[in-house]
Amino acid sequence: MKYTIKHQPIQTLVSGDTLHITSYEFIGGPGPKIYLQANLHGPEILGSMILLKLIDHLKTLDSIKGSIIIVPQANPIATMAQVYGHQVGRWNQQTGNNWNRIFQMDASRLNTKSIEGKLASNLMGLASQHDYVLDIHTSGKESVSHLYTTKESVSSFAALSPSVSILYSSSDYFNAFDESVAMANDCVAGTWEAGAHGEIDSSALEERVGELMLWLKSLRVLESHSEAESHLDSVVTIDDTKTLYANAPGYVVWLVGAGDVVEVGESVCEIHNPADGSKVLLLVEMKVLILSKYPLQAVSVGQEIGKIIYK
Ligand SMILES: [Zn+2]
Repeated sequence: MKYTIKHQPIQTLVSGDTLHITSYEFIGGPGPKIYLQANLHGPEILGSMILLKLIDHLKTLDSIKGSIIIVPQANPIATMAQVYGHQVGRWNQQTGNNWNRIFQMDASRLNTKSIEGKLASNLMGLASQHDYVLDIHTSGKESVSHLYTTKESVSSFAALSPSVSILYSSSDYFNAFDESVAMANDCVAGTWEAGAHGEIDSSALEERVGELMLWLKSLRVLESHSEAESHLDSVVTIDDTKTLYANAPGYVVWLVGAGDVVEVGESVCEIHNPADGSKVLLLVEMKVLILSKYPLQAVSVGQEIGKIIYK
């Protein structure tokens, strides 16, 4: 089908060159309006490939019902923030601000003289007046797929089959993209944590592309010859989502994987202290599911090593 590629300038660089956000617009017949983006945080590149695969698929179709606007690289500044073989663009390197805390419920309050305000204003503008908005992220060095959205919207995303859906309410407002767009436009919006940071795992990629297609079929945007599969395994609130902190200094050896359920009194990792050769186990006090394991494995006490949810 026909599509349009648009380039919105967002920053003139010190070299004099201009950075753009590229959007792909597929406009079909009557139907829902969908907005998809990925790579707002620099290391979170799996979502970009998911969207590029979707673009390839859409090009082969005669038409769709409704429209889809796709931004595979929402934040080129963050994508280019790289140190010693690693992508580090979770924060603006000048201000230290998290790139997914720069948005406003009222987009007119954004200061577009700043690059953060300019980027946020452009992305909120692209996403406005859509029925469904999905922002694709990743979490940690290993994670299970999970979705952040509201209680009202969670069932709309069931065909994505997230292992865990985490509900937030308006009192949890963090200036994130999905919640800002939802409040500004009264649409269904969510953040899909589709895999791990800094890598494009081919089997995770195929799985997630399949889930995204099923979701678009469930919304009747893509043709479906059977009822799209939908299931929500686990729905929790954001208060049930907890960070796991190191309880001892040293080197972390994980004993569990993302997606594992750990019973009360069992340990998730051992931490080996180089100063005295001792080993300390990190036990959980409640039954938990391991949502994400963070990359850091040489830690001081109190550092974040992962994310869990209470079961
Ligand atoms: Zn992210």
